[in-house]
Amino acid sequence: MPLLFIMKEKKKTLRKVNIMMEVICKPVGPVQANCYMVLQDGHCLVIDPGDDAQMLDQMLKAMNVTVDGIVLTHAHFDHIGAVDKLIEIYGVDVYVNAAEFDFLSKPEANSSGLFEGIDRMSLKAKPVELKEGANRIGTFDVTAYYAPGHSAGSTILEIGDNLFTGDVLFYESIGRTDLPSGSAEQMRDSLNFIKSLKKNYTVYPGHGPSTTLDYEKTHNPYLMYNLI
Ligand SMILES: [Zn+2]
Repeated sequence: MPLLFIMKEKKKTLRKVNIMMEVICKPVGPVQANCYMVLQDGHCLVIDPGDDAQMLDQMLKAMNVTVDGIVLTHAHFDHIGAVDKLIEIYGVDVYVNAAEFDFLSKPEANSSGLFEGIDRMSLKAKPVELKEGANRIGTFDVTAYYAPGHSAGSTILEIGDNLFTGDVLFYESIGRTDLPSGSAEQMRDSLNFIKSLKKNYTVYPGHGPSTTLDYEKTHNPYLMYNLI
């Protein structure tokens, strides 16, 4: 087969993937939590809008997308700070594990009340339950896997071939388990669950760089050696 033809085919395939689903990452706020904007067919799902509502709004308007909803991997302060403002602007729902409904309004539960220099955070938003398993949010199919350990309602989101792992799994590391409602024992079970997943997902953590599940299985000491 002529080389030119092969290259053309490759390019076509890549572009097709981009049209289907795109993930934009914007680190926000004082502890640089990753806010993700998942784009598909002119629609957007916002994951963990932790801060910088005005900037996120500008980005969403510049992308000219319909915002279908907000989903939280968990409700610590650094993942929820822009929720009220985005709801006010876009009139959408915020989905979170029912175990963390009260985190939104309680500074001690969302941990904003525990750190010097962080304003106590109490949101007005009334959350909708993110159910274990299949959820349809606007035009998006979101599969939720409960993965407590970092917090009581930490949830991993599967959207297409992507896994949004919140503060459960990071690039070559994991989230802390010493905050209120954290549990090392539950984290161990959640990591074992992650190890049992067969697909080589693209992994988008709540902080730091993206990675893949196969890479983490072979380079992340917490998955390799059961350190916790
Ligand atoms: Zn957290």
